[in-house]
Amino acid sequence: MRLVLLGPPGAGKGTQAKKTVDALRLTHVSTGDMFRRTVADGGEQGKRIQAIIGSGRLVPDEETAAVVDSFLTKQSLWDSFLLDGFPRTVPQADALDRMLEKRGKRLDAVVAIDLSEQKVLARLGGRKSCPSCGNVYHDVSAPPRHTGLCDRDGVALVTREDDQPEKILERLRVYESQTRPLLDYYTRSGVLRRIDGDADSDQVTARILALFQK
Ligand code: ADP
Ligand code: ADP
Repeated sequence: MRLVLLGPPGAGKGTQAKKTVDALRLTHVSTGDMFRRTVADGGEQGKRIQAIIGSGRLVPDEETAAVVDSFLTKQSLWDSFLLDGFPRTVPQADALDRMLEKRGKRLDAVVAIDLSEQKVLARLGGRKSCPSCGNVYHDVSAPPRHTGLCDRDGVALVTREDDQPEKILERLRVYESQTRPLLDYYTRSGVLRRIDGDADSDQVTARILALFQK
């Protein structure tokens, strides 16, 4: 299957991608994680992307699409991917369609996780991440075993720069203007499936898996 997870920042895309890929036999492909690795690697590209992410804006469409195309090709994932965080704009969705068409393939489904802005603010306001392995926690709903430390590697957890309150508002503005139009885009192509993301994470996982049970 070829799937896309769509939803506002903080809707639970990353959490649900990790919890569903094994059952669906897909590989989780997160553009946010890819860009954060590029930042961690340093270099000119890393610095440029860090400035963009830190501002709450989006990496340019062509650059993002090229990164995804080359990753899916290198890892031979054209038949079994779960895209998390891509596409995020109509030009990116067009680019993905072209990449797939070139290979005689199409998306099977786009799963949109719905969550109100108020709930999104609570999710992002409490998100903590491990700067080393990228594992994600939440102060209230998914705390680590030892306060402030990653369960996996014991590294001190941080609040992502783009999870600071003023950056969150900018990212929600970007979501409304650039990403929300994809709901109509994928409704028109007949692949959109919507689920309510306002439940505990196991329940949301069950809702997603239920979409694909024969
Ligand atoms: P969230 O989990 O909060 O939705 P991500 O981790 O997916 O955020 O993305 C973090 C940042 O990385 C975005 O705010 C943006 O700057 C950049 N980014 C990720 N995916 C894309 C994309 N498809 N197009 C452009 N920029 C992206
Ligand atoms: P996204 O990838 O869409 O930005 P995340 O998966 O990173 O979202 O989730 C955002 C925050 O909300 C994280 O701190 C995560 O631990 C927490 N979270 C995810 N799903 C749920 C849920 N169903 N209920 C409560 N908190 C959640």
